[in-house]
Amino acid sequence: MGLLKFQVSATDGKARTGLLKLKHGMVNTPELIPVATKATVKALSSDDLNELGVQILICNTYHLMLQPAADVIAKLGGLHKFMNWDKPLMTDSGGFQAFSLGLGKEHAVGKMYFPGEGYTESKPRGKSIAKVDDKGIMFKSIYDKSYQYLTPERSIRVQEKLGADMILVLDECTSPLSGKEYTAKSMERTHRWAKQCLELHETDQALVGIVQGGHWKDLREKSARYITSLDFDSFAIGGSLGKSKKHMHSVLDWVIPYLPEDKPRHLLGIGVVEDIFESVERGVDLFDCVSPTRIARSGYAYIRPPFGTKKNKYRYKITLIKHKSDGQPLDPNCECKVCKNYSRAYVHHLLKTEELLGYNLISYHNLHFMLQLMREIRDAIKTGTFQELKNEWMK
Ligand SMILES: [Zn+2]
Repeated sequence: MGLLKFQVSATDGKARTGLLKLKHGMVNTPELIPVATKATVKALSSDDLNELGVQILICNTYHLMLQPAADVIAKLGGLHKFMNWDKPLMTDSGGFQAFSLGLGKEHAVGKMYFPGEGYTESKPRGKSIAKVDDKGIMFKSIYDKSYQYLTPERSIRVQEKLGADMILVLDECTSPLSGKEYTAKSMERTHRWAKQCLELHETDQALVGIVQGGHWKDLREKSARYITSLDFDSFAIGGSLGKSKKHMHSVLDWVIPYLPEDKPRHLLGIGVVEDIFESVERGVDLFDCVSPTRIARSGYAYIRPPFGTKKNKYRYKITLIKHKSDGQPLDPNCECKVCKNYSRAYVHHLLKTEELLGYNLISYHNLHFMLQLMREIRDAIKTGTFQELKNEWMK
């Protein structure tokens, strides 16, 4: 067992607030964990992250073991020191890349599949550069094209060297387009890997078990029963979440009753506004998502309803011509330093001219927006007004 303590502090229906204590500090939940894939939340410094009130970050094992290499980071004092971050830190296991570089690439889909988006019969498929077998995942490195075999043991040893507070077992994240037979086989393999990771684990890092099983009720229940029978510090829900938002909600409804009340629950790789409300309502404590900074780099700024666009009420494209001389802040209701000091016209200009400051400013605002939402969600749960807040945002 690792150094993790978790206490639920308030509930509102199934939604709950909690205090998660890790080696490097406390995390108030529910919380969105910003993704620092290559040991950086893109375009933001650790000073920015501290100013934003970020409580915890998650980094990526696959990328860091290849570049600069786990040994390099370990020699320099570990990941915290390497990236100048002295608060809680997680690493994933590399399992997500089995999907994103494997079947996800081949099927051209994400963790959720929406008909009409991404994959179609006529769209050319990407070429998979990850292959899973019973012992591990064979990757072709995106850095030097070398072949790399990631086993449960290698994943644990790499994560020990990186030294995050909380680490994940190696799993296979399946595709929403994988059939039931494949998903069941993959789930059994993931279960064997989970047990191996637990047995191999030697440090005081908290270890997180992952429930798989795609969007099939019997598989999800089987996986939840098995994974929670093992002595993990925390539990995550991973893998494909199906072919619609409804599927994702069902997966949560099937799995959460099996998860112990007194351990944190993490929905992996999810973190847009609607999904956060729906999942918190069902009892999820942690999320991680690249969205705030990824959409920022494509020129999208988050905005509170009712100011968003018809297509997406929580964001708009700042690079559209209509913002060229728009003197308003990115979001008139936002109190972040970017909204206090800069206009849409200025951010529009920076992004149009690909000035580096533009990426910093819009990423800063977007992350502030999501973290502020999480603060409001925690306050609403504490005062028993979660439903009111959800209705206000989702109407
Ligand atoms: Zn702002």
